[in-house]
Amino acid sequence: MLEDVLAAADAAARPWGELPRTERAAALTAVADELDAAADELVPLAQKESHLPEARLRGELVRTTFQLRLFAEQVRAGFEVAEDAPDPDWPPGPRPALRRVHLPIGPVVVFAASNFPFAFSVAGGDTASALAAACPVIVKAHPGHPRLSDATGEVVHRALSRAGAPEGTFAVVHGDENGRSAVLDPRVEAVAFTGSVRGGRALFDLAVSRPKPIPFYGELGSINPVFVTEQAARSRGAEIAAGYVDSFTMGAGQFCTKPGLFVVPAGTGLGSLAAERVREKAAAPLLNERIGAGYRASLGGLVEHEEVRVLVEGADTPEGPAPTLLATTARALLDDGEPLLTECFGPASLVVEYASRDEALAVARALEGQLTGTVHGEDDDEIARPLLTELAARAGRVLWNGWPTGVAVTHAMHHGGPYPATTAPLHTSVGTAATARFLRPVAFQNVPEHLLPA
Ligand code: NAP
Repeated sequence: MLEDVLAAADAAARPWGELPRTERAAALTAVADELDAAADELVPLAQKESHLPEARLRGELVRTTFQLRLFAEQVRAGFEVAEDAPDPDWPPGPRPALRRVHLPIGPVVVFAASNFPFAFSVAGGDTASALAAACPVIVKAHPGHPRLSDATGEVVHRALSRAGAPEGTFAVVHGDENGRSAVLDPRVEAVAFTGSVRGGRALFDLAVSRPKPIPFYGELGSINPVFVTEQAARSRGAEIAAGYVDSFTMGAGQFCTKPGLFVVPAGTGLGSLAAERVREKAAAPLLNERIGAGYRASLGGLVEHEEVRVLVEGADTPEGPAPTLLATTARALLDDGEPLLTECFGPASLVVEYASRDEALAVARALEGQLTGTVHGEDDDEIARPLLTELAARAGRVLWNGWPTGVAVTHAMHHGGPYPATTAPLHTSVGTAATARFLRPVAFQNVPEHLLPA
């Protein structure tokens, strides 16, 4: 079965790549249209398998089809071409005629995420960007929503076939053995992954262990620190604390951009203000058993740490866990950072109180690679610039007076960051720049116009 899928993807690569851009764009739009039309079939399945509420899932499906249409627009506009005219006087020697174009890298394996059953799953951003780059896609379905994965896969497959895409352009497979075999198969040229550091790292190691290593675009773990300056805490502490709690409890904390660290000045009462708000938040079910077990294990590790205080202990109810708020000091984090800087995927977050500006900056410097880093500050805050500089050195997206949950699908978005946020810090998995992961540059030198690729 996997062999058939791989052979078909391999056979589809050339004809799918050679399909005129307008037809490829139309195929992506057709997928979006058919997914929208299938909403009433897909959303209930997603609700059942992910335990996420209907409104959230409907919104996510809208984002998913918007994303497909945006990539279709990008395909219509064409990918960047750089050109050098020949120049006999070019130092240090004559310059040839060069045209740098982008060609599809070849069949791509996409490991779907658990936490966004539409937007980061079968028809999500990785699939859309790889199809836009004219690469066939084999999705390894996430075991958290198998029926939804098949149903979505059928819609995508049908839409692509009707739009004239070659058979083999798209398929869904299940099972971790199939996932591993696909990563190792010589016909596969790139992998995109969203999930845990452990799983992502294991598959990354597999991808680079091949006789011919291939690019592995993994989006793994991030704790998304939020720093609050003394001035901001004093002028609008309550508002900031409320925003923080709303952000870390959104989607039961199952966002890769959830703020897991709230770094605040000691003595400003932000932890207590946040705790009050946390107590108002209801329990919510987690995505699946595995996420639940992972959450309880990492939360348990944090709670047991001797420098951690529990501000609000979220009850474990039959509906799921209520949010938990923990606190520690910057000093403790600087003395023994690693256990306090582990991602806890679910509705929990850690308040870190700093005693001085230098301590706040030291916390920023102690961080590993992040998807996001946020500062809540005032325009004339002295610490603002050094803090933003430290965060930009470690995070793919730096926010000012905002919240990291919610990643806009746009041209300038960067959803990535240094390891372990991702395995490929030069690239994004959200926004139109995501196609660059699947386009291989080729410079044609002195090749006559009529012999160049269309
Ligand atoms: P996961 O355990 O990493 O699994 C993700 C995908 O990779 C699944 O399809 C899984 O397949 C596959 N996989 C993992 N390890 C593998 C291995 N050694 N060999 C072959 N396939 C492997 O992630 P998850 O189930 O989505 O969530 C667990 C954790 O991931 C969360 O607690 C959270 O920390 C993190 N997470 C991060 C993001 C993000 O956006 N960065 C999103 C969701 C979750 P099988 O299950 O079939 O093995």
